[in-house]
Amino acid sequence: MWSIKFVPGEYYKRSEIHDQFGGNRQRGISASAKEPVIFIFSGASGAQYGYSDDWNEEKTLFMYTGEGQIGDQVFSMGNKALRDHVNNSKDVLLFHHSKNGLYRFDDQLTLIGYETKQSLDREGNMREVIQFVFESSSYLTRSVEEELEGNKLTYDRSLDELKELALQDTSNGHDSVQMKRVKVRKRSEAIKLYARARADGTCEACEQPEPFEAKSGSSLEVHHMYRLSDGGPDHPEHVAAICPNCHARIHRGVDGMEYNETLIERILDKEDPFRMKYIH
Ligand SMILES: [Zn+2]
Ligand SMILES: [Zn+2]
Repeated sequence: MWSIKFVPGEYYKRSEIHDQFGGNRQRGISASAKEPVIFIFSGASGAQYGYSDDWNEEKTLFMYTGEGQIGDQVFSMGNKALRDHVNNSKDVLLFHHSKNGLYRFDDQLTLIGYETKQSLDREGNMREVIQFVFESSSYLTRSVEEELEGNKLTYDRSLDELKELALQDTSNGHDSVQMKRVKVRKRSEAIKLYARARADGTCEACEQPEPFEAKSGSSLEVHHMYRLSDGGPDHPEHVAAICPNCHARIHRGVDGMEYNETLIERILDKEDPFRMKYIH
């Protein structure tokens, strides 16, 4: 699961990415069938059709035009995968075309929202295009951690309330980008708070009390059990609050994958103590 860790700024051969992850080898948006990840291979070809994919000045938001060069763009295939990535618990990884089949890994993205715009297609006809607005996942994760530290985890809500907040659908609606950013951030915070509240001071992996008192109120780290990274909003049942030691073991230990499997079982039991178990 963690055999490839893409490093921002490094160059990768597209064919090697597909050898490992599968997915369409030509399209700009390519979803892996093997891992919960969607790749965006941003090229130079967009600009000539009246749009360009780019970061804002602060490099916090990335505007990306959907796929389809002729006629109205619709929510199928890649466009649908991007729209639903948060709810489907998939990572979005952004690569930029360089040369000789090399692509530079830029950042992980979290969808904030999208709008439709009028634009000319390749044949000179007016058509509707989808413009996605993504936030840098690393920026989002950082700001959420800072936010939580500022609040000293005093979100005084029940587990159920936190879970409801954490499951909020942030992709629809006609809110402004600013409003959507706030919603995505709140959802991210709620997921972290939910995991830590469920852990209740005990590591959800080794079941020992948390090892030290942190400035932020909890030294437990929120780990994503199914994805390649821990960034961005997600499903509250897919994360666990674990001590730094267990976290390092899962990501770097020789038995990391097995340890993660054990954790998945523990969380399933916690979430539903009456679930049916396979008997070997
Ligand atoms: Zn632990
Ligand atoms: Zn983790």
